[in-house]
Amino acid sequence: MRAAVLREYNKDLVIEDVPTPECPEDGVVLKVLACGVCRSDWHGWIGEHPRVKPGQIGGHEYCGEVVEAGPRSSWKLGDKLVAPFILACGMCPSCQSGNQNTCPNQRLPGFIEPGAFAEYVAVPFDHNLARLPEMLSPTVAAGLGCRVTTSWHALTGRAALQAGEWLAVHGTGGIGLSAMLLGKALGAYVVVVDVVQEKLDHALSLGADAAVNAQDGGAAEKIREITKGGAHVSVEALGIAATTNASIECLRPLGRHVQVGMPVGHTAHMEINMSAVYQGNLALYGTRGMPSWRYPSLLGLITSGTVDMSPLIAREIPLSRTGAELAAFNGPTPPGVAVITDFTS
Ligand SMILES: [Zn+2]
Ligand SMILES: [Zn+2]
Repeated sequence: MRAAVLREYNKDLVIEDVPTPECPEDGVVLKVLACGVCRSDWHGWIGEHPRVKPGQIGGHEYCGEVVEAGPRSSWKLGDKLVAPFILACGMCPSCQSGNQNTCPNQRLPGFIEPGAFAEYVAVPFDHNLARLPEMLSPTVAAGLGCRVTTSWHALTGRAALQAGEWLAVHGTGGIGLSAMLLGKALGAYVVVVDVVQEKLDHALSLGADAAVNAQDGGAAEKIREITKGGAHVSVEALGIAATTNASIECLRPLGRHVQVGMPVGHTAHMEINMSAVYQGNLALYGTRGMPSWRYPSLLGLITSGTVDMSPLIAREIPLSRTGAELAAFNGPTPPGVAVITDFTS
């Protein structure tokens, strides 16, 4: 099968002919229908992700059709499925308590084992998978592996965002745009922050209530003005110090900060305004992924028409463009995300 393989950090991925993956006993092999190109793939590509080494096939935000099912799988050939990027064991205390995204036995296609920058991907622990609703295109559904689910869990599973509250979103990439759309669907007011005016205009055209260009600094102060006292919930969607501090400092007393952006490599340790946390009686949440049992809540919101996630998708690309999309994360990116939908060119 064709796969885009990381051979050298910061160099274009190499399109190679590699063996089709073997089917896990407790899983399936999916023919990949769509796979998003995510910022965490970029972390691996530049060599800052602790787990991604040369030889890796990336791609963790995918959906596909079952072409092979193991003896202990509950799926059938032809089933169209979406997978969370964290595949949990289902047996351990974390899984049993409903926190599958913290499972210590988790499997991670795209980071350790081969991912979905390929025609086929093997998926173990397939009880994590959810059926793709008929009305949802694979392209839009690809985001349900990482960015949309992560945002959903950040807002509802962690920060418990309420209708009528102000939500600030720092960084309007895939995660940030998802958080904005979902925040609006939950009845919150949303202010978005970015340094790219085009992305702010895009977010405003999709329903954001206010936008702050952080190019000239002072984002936190501007948000406190717009929200008349500070946001109730603030999501940091980049994983760097400047936006993390702006997120903490834009909150009103008792506000909730959610760290969604991935601090890794040179941003793993950052200087944080802990005085603001103390003075404001703030809560800081970390979040990564979403427990798979929460799929119905999100899919229900989408299939009922309450929220349309299609504006998230900016372009469909062939597999051979994947490396170029990763390189684009080196600088400020245009609005929306790229999804691989053509695996033959
Ligand atoms: Zn991701
Ligand atoms: Zn587990």
